[in-house]
Amino acid sequence: MPELPEVETTVRGLARYLDGAKIARVALNRPDLRRPFPPGLVQTLTGATVTGLGRRAKYGLIHTDRDQTMVFHLGMSGRWRIEPERAEKHDHLVLETGAGHVLALNDARRFGSVDLIDTAALEQWPPFAALGPEPLGDNLTPRHLHQAFKDRVAPVKPLLLDQRIVAGLGNIYVCEALYRAGIRPDKEAGKISRPALERLVPAIKTVLAESIEAGGSTIRDYAQPNGELGYFAASWRVYGREGEACDCGGTVTRFNQGGRSTFWCAKCQK
Ligand SMILES: [Zn+2]
Repeated sequence: MPELPEVETTVRGLARYLDGAKIARVALNRPDLRRPFPPGLVQTLTGATVTGLGRRAKYGLIHTDRDQTMVFHLGMSGRWRIEPERAEKHDHLVLETGAGHVLALNDARRFGSVDLIDTAALEQWPPFAALGPEPLGDNLTPRHLHQAFKDRVAPVKPLLLDQRIVAGLGNIYVCEALYRAGIRPDKEAGKISRPALERLVPAIKTVLAESIEAGGSTIRDYAQPNGELGYFAASWRVYGREGEACDCGGTVTRFNQGGRSTFWCAKCQK
C-alpha cells in the first residue's frame, strides 16, 4: 500500500514530465475508481497547463492554470506508469502531454480516487480540512505534539496514526519513529516527557526522509519504458522483524494494537 514516501516519490517522478507541461489529451477508460471520476475532468484538463505538483498527506496534487487541481489518491494498489510500452488492463486514466509523454494511472483494486478541486479552496476541501500538520513541514514540532498529547491517556502509537494530529503517517513509519526515539508504543501519550518529544519529531522526519531518498534512488528507472512510480524496498529496524535481534542485544517483538501490528524492542524503548 503506497505510504507518504511513495506518494512523495511518485509526485517528484511525475513532476519531471508534467511540471509546466500542457496536457494535450486525457482518456478515461472506465467511469470510476473508488467513486466516479468528477464530471468535467476531461474537459477541464484537456489543454490546461500544469503549474506545479505537490502532496498533502497521502494525496498527490496536480495544479493547473485553470484554477483547478487534480487530486489523486493511490488507495491500495494505485501507481502511475510512465511512458508505458503498451496499455494495460487497469490503466484507468491516461494523460498525454504536448511533448508526447504518456502517463497512465493504473489501479487494479480501484481503492484510489481522483478529484478536481478549486485550487484556492484546497485547504477547505473536507478530506484536507481536518488534517494535522505535514510531518516533513515546519509545523510538526515537539510543541505541537505536546499540545496534542496533553492529558491524553491513550497510548502514543494510535495517536500518531491519527491524521488530525499528524497528516499521512502510516503504521510502518510510526513503529520505526518510536523505536528511533526510544519511546514504547503503548506509553500513555500525556506522560511522554518533553525530551522524548524532542527526539520523536526528528525521528519521524528522518524515517520519512530516508524512505523518500530510497525511493529517489529508483527515480532513474522512471524514464525507462514501463517505468513505474511509487514502490521501492526499504529496510526497517523493527517493522516486520519479530523475533530478530535488536542492535541493543534485545529482541524485536510484536503485539496487536488497535488492530494493527506494532513492532518494538522492550529493551531500548521506555
Ligand atoms: Zn533494542
